[in-house]
Amino acid sequence: MHNIQLSKPDITQKEIKAVSDVLKTSTLSLGKKYIEFQNTMADFTGVKYAVATNSGTSGLHLIMKALGIGAGDEVITTPFSFIASANCILYEGAKPVFVDIDKNTLNIDVSKIENKITKKTKAILAVDVFSHPADWDALKKIAKKHKLFLIEDSAEALGSIYKGKKCGSFGDAGVFAFYPNKQITTGEGGMVLTNNKKIADLCKSMANQGRKIENGKWLEHVRLGYNYRLDEMSSALGIEQLKRIHEILKKREKVANLYNKKLKDIKGFQIPYVDKNSKISWFVYVVKLDNSFFGSKRDKIIKEMAKRGIQCSNYFQPIHLQPFYKKEFSYKQGDFPIAENTSQRTLALPFFNDLEEEQIDAVVKNLKEIINDI
Ligand SMILES: *Cc1c(COP(=O)(O)O)cnc(C)c1O
Repeated sequence: MHNIQLSKPDITQKEIKAVSDVLKTSTLSLGKKYIEFQNTMADFTGVKYAVATNSGTSGLHLIMKALGIGAGDEVITTPFSFIASANCILYEGAKPVFVDIDKNTLNIDVSKIENKITKKTKAILAVDVFSHPADWDALKKIAKKHKLFLIEDSAEALGSIYKGKKCGSFGDAGVFAFYPNKQITTGEGGMVLTNNKKIADLCKSMANQGRKIENGKWLEHVRLGYNYRLDEMSSALGIEQLKRIHEILKKREKVANLYNKKLKDIKGFQIPYVDKNSKISWFVYVVKLDNSFFGSKRDKIIKEMAKRGIQCSNYFQPIHLQPFYKKEFSYKQGDFPIAENTSQRTLALPFFNDLEEEQIDAVVKNLKEIINDI
């Protein structure tokens, strides 16, 4: 029986020391670490401003508020993502309008966007899914032509590069997330990225109970705010993780390359697609299965692997078919065929920085055995 997890954070003594050092001070919130984490993240991404938040989801919510998206507005987005990228649109009473995905990059199909634009459309929210950059040049063109805001959910793509530029920097605002399965973690945490000072200031104020950015009094609140702040321990953890980002991305690439090599010749498996304009930071390692392992057979592979102590997953179930969305918006099977088809054939394999070659061999060997029996 193996014990190979789907994902695992990579925490060294440096991170442990940084967090304990904070705990020895009396500043556990709104101190230096939070400022430093924001500054280093803005530098890394190549944007002017970064606002730390207590999750990627709260970062997305702040962006919606800062752009003034609300009731009666429509936001064009992808159904093949984690639920938060569509939920953030609902938080403010706007409507997510889904557009099917490209079968290779698994990102929003830019050629299908313009058909869905109406007078109510206010923004496009694209996701760099599985760390593969969306087609940002095309997205920017459409957004500009129709005077729409562009939002980048880059929660899965810290360190990914599109045409020489870092993901997180492409929209009017973007977001990273630092849940423990992401490239770097702060436990819970997120970051808003933008080159627009007004958006940054609004996000900063709303994350901090609607206080003024500068010279405000502690108990003076100038707008509706939230407590979406990132604390000092989490910020210190994030700073140390970001210092190791090159090492982390190298490790992830090494694991992905090993998988690519060892899976290449298995019949019925397609290794992850990477577009020629993109370098990806490997959030997850997801293979696509062909028709012979579609749907319930894929689910059986996951079950059999679990029996052998190897954790796999079926990222993603399309958002429009989530029970809540089906009930609320009457979506049905067939509405977004490529996203639906993809979701029946994706298989996420164990993937983390320190996954050893022996463990990768065990994953591949067990996969081969199982698919021979199916
Ligand atoms: C992880 C993730 C988020 C949300 O991040 P949290 O920090 O868990 O709130 C949002 N969008 C996508 C695409 C994600 O993968």
